[in-house]
Amino acid sequence: MFEIIVNIITLMTIDLHNHSYYSDGVLSPSEVVCLAKESGCNVFALTDHDTTDGLIEAQQEANNQNIKLVHGVEISAMWSKMTIHIVGLNIDKDNPILRSGLKQHQDFRKTRAEKMARSLGGAGVVGAMEKTQALAKTDMITRTHFAQMLIQEGICKDMKSVFRRFLTGKKPGGVGGKWARFDEVIKWIHAAGGVAVLAHPLRYRMTNTKIQRMLSHLSNAGLDGVEVITAHSTDGEITLMSKWANEHELLHSCGSDYHGWNNQRIKIGCLKDFSNPDRALWRDW
Ligand code: AMP
Ligand code: MN
Ligand code: MN
Ligand code: MN
Repeated sequence: MFEIIVNIITLMTIDLHNHSYYSDGVLSPSEVVCLAKESGCNVFALTDHDTTDGLIEAQQEANNQNIKLVHGVEISAMWSKMTIHIVGLNIDKDNPILRSGLKQHQDFRKTRAEKMARSLGGAGVVGAMEKTQALAKTDMITRTHFAQMLIQEGICKDMKSVFRRFLTGKKPGGVGGKWARFDEVIKWIHAAGGVAVLAHPLRYRMTNTKIQRMLSHLSNAGLDGVEVITAHSTDGEITLMSKWANEHELLHSCGSDYHGWNNQRIKIGCLKDFSNPDRALWRDW
């Protein structure tokens, strides 16, 4: 029986980290769900930054397409003065504790966007707020929208340089994150009946020692899993992350972090296979 379950898990195409234009993705929730279906995904999660507003439309399309939609959200959080991302999966989006937490982050995003626009204004970028707002399809403004605006204005040539020259650290447009602490964010996700997963662990600017310290702190605060496989993971990275996940008693998750940007070279559901599917996060789903 156990072997059958493991085989089913291995055969399934699962992608538990994707964005729509309700945060900084390009496509609508329906378009993302259709793409997931076309890619042969059996299980798919929509995980927009700090909002669950895209899930209603995504669920309607998932019903039409007969694909399993996991209700998700990617929440910004502070750990040791750094911003990290914690994905909540299988959440009840209507849970009041989760909703009020996300509202707090959405409000912070508004004041942060105004600060960023002022700071960019000081660096000679005229009308930063209006131009950025015009690019966003909802009232959620992310740094990606500012990045798009700076590229469109011809101030930077691509995403990589725009984040390096603007939008980070002490650069114009770089304003520190004041997100909720990691333990609080994990509590919101648990209150909503979800599982909490650390997103893209190897993408933070941290040494391996620091990543392991973070895993230990997060695991002690109740973290359930960690993304062992993301879009560009190498075999070596997957082996390393699986080992660390096991050491910290964390389940293994996988997600492409699809945003739909042309140059991102990421396809929904196009991920490497799990080496030990018995530790898969969704084995009990
Ligand atoms: P925010 O949550 O508004 O601070 O925006 C963070 C988002 O910006 C991330 O989820 C990424 O999608 C994007 N991002 C951050 N750093 C970079 C980078 N160096 N290059 C491209 N995109 C980035
Ligand atoms: Mn993003
Ligand atoms: Mn992220
Ligand atoms: Mn993401």
